[in-house]
Amino acid sequence: MRTLLGLTVAVCAAMAASAADVSVCKFPDGKSGAFLLAFDDGCPSQLAHAIPVLEKYRVPGTFYPITEAGHFKARKADWIKAAKSPYVTLGNHTSTHRGVTTPDELDKQLADANAVLKEMQPELPWPRLISFAVPGGVPWKIEPAELKAKLDAQHLVERPKFQTPPWFCKTVADAEAYIDRCIATKQMGHIDFHGIGGDWLSNPTEYLEGVAKKLDSVRDRLWLAPAEDWNKYTAEQAVAQVKVEKETANEVALTVSLGALDPAIYDFPLTLELKTDWKRVRLEAGCAVSELAAQDGKVKFSVPAGVKAVLKKLD
Ligand SMILES: [Zn+2]
Repeated sequence: MRTLLGLTVAVCAAMAASAADVSVCKFPDGKSGAFLLAFDDGCPSQLAHAIPVLEKYRVPGTFYPITEAGHFKARKADWIKAAKSPYVTLGNHTSTHRGVTTPDELDKQLADANAVLKEMQPELPWPRLISFAVPGGVPWKIEPAELKAKLDAQHLVERPKFQTPPWFCKTVADAEAYIDRCIATKQMGHIDFHGIGGDWLSNPTEYLEGVAKKLDSVRDRLWLAPAEDWNKYTAEQAVAQVKVEKETANEVALTVSLGALDPAIYDFPLTLELKTDWKRVRLEAGCAVSELAAQDGKVKFSVPAGVKAVLKKLD
C-alpha cells in the first residue's frame, strides 16, 4: 500500500512537471484593467440622463435603488423597463436607506430589497450574486465581519468603497487620466454617482458622457463590467484550480474548478492563457466550438468552471 501510494505521488509529480503552461488571466479576455460605474439611490435623473448615455456608449452601470423610497416606487415600472437593457444591472442598497443598528435589522433590510429586485426581474436566475452598497450618511452600527456574514447568507457582495466627483476625479480630464492609470497599472477602477443632470449630489450629464466616451474608446484594453461580474471574476480567480487532464503534442484538455465556491452562483467564465508555439487552435468547450489564433506565443480562451475545454492544434 505504501509502495502504491509512493508510486501515485511520483506519477503526479511527473505529470505536474510536464503539464501545459496554463494560467488564469487577471481580467476577462486578457484585458489590462477593469472599470465599474455605479449609480446610487435610484434617482429619477438616472432614468432620464444616465441610462441613455450608457446605452449610447455601450457602457454598463450598476444601479442601487432605495426600494422603499417614494421616488423609486413612483418610477418602478420605468426601472423594470430600464433594467432590460444590457447596460443596466440592479444592486442592493438596503430597502429604506435609513441605516442599520442591529443584525436583525440588517437581515430584514437586505431581504426586503432583494425581494424587490427578484420581483423586478423574474427572468433572471435566483439566487444569484448581487452587488451591495452600504447606504451613506446614516447610522451604520455593523462590524465588517458581521456585515460580510450577513451579505454572504443572502448572496450579496460589497462593492468597492464609494468615490464620487467632484471630490474624486473633479473633471473629465481627471477621469480620463484615472482610466488610463487603471490600464497602465492593471487595476480595477470605479466612479460612483448619484444624480445625473439633476436630483441630489448631482454631476452634469456632460461629465458622465465624457467618462462613457473615454471608456468606450479603450474597451479593447479595459473590461467594462457590472459590479457583480467583477466580484464573481475576482472571487473565482482567487480560488481557481486548473487541472490538465490530457496533454499531447497536438492537444490539451483541461477543466477549471472553484473549490468551495458554488458554480451556480459564481458562473462567470474564466479566461485562461495557454503558452504554446501553436499558431491556430480549435477550442471545444462543452457544446461550443471555436477557432482561436495565438498571439505572442499565447492562446487566450474563456471557459466556465466545470466545463471541459479541449484545445487542438490546427497549425
Ligand atoms: Zn445611497
